[in-house]
Amino acid sequence: MPHTPPVPDSPPAALRLRIDRDALAANWRALDQLSGTAATAAAVKADAYGLGVDVAVPALLEAGCREFFVAHWNEVGAVLRYVAPEQVAVLHGPLTPADAAYARLTGVRPVVNSLAQARLWLEAGGGRCDLMVDTGINRLGLPLAELGDAAVGRLEIDVLHSHLASAEDDTSLNGMQLQRWNAARQQVQHRRASLANSAGIALGEAYHGDLTRPGLSLYGGVPCAALAAYIRQVVWPEAVVMQVRQLDAGESVGYNATFVAPAPMRIGVIALGYADGYLRCWSGGRGAVRSGERRLPVLGRVSMDMTVIDLAAAPELQEGDWVTVDYVLPDAAAASGLSQYELLTLLGRRFAR
Ligand SMILES: *Cc1c(COP(=O)(O)O)cnc(C)c1O
Repeated sequence: MPHTPPVPDSPPAALRLRIDRDALAANWRALDQLSGTAATAAAVKADAYGLGVDVAVPALLEAGCREFFVAHWNEVGAVLRYVAPEQVAVLHGPLTPADAAYARLTGVRPVVNSLAQARLWLEAGGGRCDLMVDTGINRLGLPLAELGDAAVGRLEIDVLHSHLASAEDDTSLNGMQLQRWNAARQQVQHRRASLANSAGIALGEAYHGDLTRPGLSLYGGVPCAALAAYIRQVVWPEAVVMQVRQLDAGESVGYNATFVAPAPMRIGVIALGYADGYLRCWSGGRGAVRSGERRLPVLGRVSMDMTVIDLAAAPELQEGDWVTVDYVLPDAAAASGLSQYELLTLLGRRFAR
């Protein structure tokens, strides 16, 4: 039998994401400034890159953002609690008649990515939509050769999009995609045009069109050096020290005993593990937490729900104290081999947000 009456609220979590809403808002404003006369949207797919739509979307709205992009249809509901449907678009577009019907019911714009999607949308009754054209990433998007199709001509296109494959790199692909996107703008009727993700904004005015679509840099990611001066860290994972232990020389720590104490030492067990997105790549001292400025390295293997840290540099730390995980995105990416995108979107549901 289920627990009746209703299950009481959980006590506070031993794990939380401190999200600097001011930094998030400042990042949006900085990217908006860099976007010049173009409006600046926000990619809030994947639960706002793991931050949580409930935290990120209100902060972005307050900063002045008025356009939001998700990837899946099942991400729409969370955003519509804060934003009018005309301000939301779904990047994957309608894959099924049910998707198209949902778009019509809610008033959210589908981003049409192929002739099949265009026909599906028109058959469902159509209406305002966006169109994604492929200019070289070969992921989603209508091939340029199909732009003249009658179905495209019948679409009521708000934003004509394309997406850059390597905006963070200095490569000729950027210029080629820009040229193709500009050609597409000549070929199809549309209200607004959009090309740039975060790194694309740094490529300059020619890439801005009417609307830019940053994601990563809103949340503290720095995809290219040109943005480093403008972007602030937003996400600070924090965990409680659940237990403090004293090790004798020769004792080992964690699964497979990969760390052996060379001398007596004081260690802490924190409530953070790979189930929370703190992957095993941080094992063996690659990862660390901070207490103030002091760095407390990870000892041994990260396990599912726990990580062990060296308390030598912070002898006053006690059970119940909080530590901050070393997670400055560009540095953490370099240290772990994970991308800044992965580092954000990995952060799990057990963090209080
Ligand atoms: C995710 C996404 C973005 C945002 O990209 P960032 O690199 O995170 O700034 C923009 N446009 C499209 C089509 C996307 O899928």
